[in-house]
Amino acid sequence: AAKTAGKGTFRIFLPDMETRIQERIRLEATLRAALESGNGLFVFYQPIVAIETGTVTAREALVRWHHPQRGWISPDEFVPVAEQSGLIDQLGSFVLNAACREAAGWQDNARIAVNVSARQLGSGTLVTAVSVALTVSCLSADRLEIEVTETALLNNEEDIIGELRQLRDLGVRVALDDFGTGYSSLAHLRAFPFDKIKIDGSFVRDSVERADCAAVVQAVASLGRRLGVTTVAEGVETPAHLDRAREEGCGEVQGYLFGRPKPSDCDAPIIDELNRIARDDPMTSTG
Ligand code: C2E
Ligand code: MG
Ligand code: MG
Ligand code: MG
Repeated sequence: AAKTAGKGTFRIFLPDMETRIQERIRLEATLRAALESGNGLFVFYQPIVAIETGTVTAREALVRWHHPQRGWISPDEFVPVAEQSGLIDQLGSFVLNAACREAAGWQDNARIAVNVSARQLGSGTLVTAVSVALTVSCLSADRLEIEVTETALLNNEEDIIGELRQLRDLGVRVALDDFGTGYSSLAHLRAFPFDKIKIDGSFVRDSVERADCAAVVQAVASLGRRLGVTTVAEGVETPAHLDRAREEGCGEVQGYLFGRPKPSDCDAPIIDELNRIARDDPMTSTG
């Protein structure tokens, strides 16, 4: 775009292709090193709450990476890098093992929800990784939930459904994440008996002001009841969001209103230290 920008137009800086490829290769190498050393990768946990009782039924494991130069990087940036560079199975196992070990120590017996990406499904390796994580942590299978997004079901559907069935046979629950953002959501509900449907935060947040979004939340919640599937409203940030999720009939809620993702108690001191370094570093300090 910068190249074709003519007289009177603003030149927008875009790193050229080569620079982007180099950055990408560097990021991949740094991620690989992090996975090998175990340094800088963490799992944070966010509560999922039953709307009627207010009890924490589960916590979602969310991966975090503190890049040695760039500081904290979003999983939306580095999970795709892991997927495209063959590191996703390793990253997935890291999260599974850390999350199951953590959950095995919880006094409240809440379940642990772990995200898996499309690239982890369909080759049969996930079922092995899950079995290993459960065995090593002594966590009972019915306390583990695997979250898959709709896009995971688009390719190779039969292999993927087969693998989800194997997880089900182990006693693991399977949730459909980000419901409503992908294609042919309803077809996916027919293809596999999910235990849980997570309604994407965008619908939940907009449901306060937009009747159409409220209608979507209500329709998914009632669908869930008819199918005997728990529905979770994601992205609940305010009491108004919570009221709406309750009115529309969702079973569970998750969002900043109940707690941001936070480190496990064992990681908390290291993370405080990393935050302190990031703050004190003149290169990253925002003043
Ligand atoms: P997701 O599975 O849909 O996770 C929910 C995301 O919403 C998380 O972002 C969470 O921090 C954020 N969130 C929670 N409550 C609120 C809220 O009230 N308001 C807003 N605005 N956001 C909220 P996060 O941690 O940045 O993760 C982004 C995505 O990255 C996840 O979306 C998931 O698709 C992926 N991801 C995270 N951890 C893993 C992992 O271990 N493995 C894989 N394969 N993907 C992961
Ligand atoms: Mg999720
Ligand atoms: Mg989600
Ligand atoms: Mg998401």
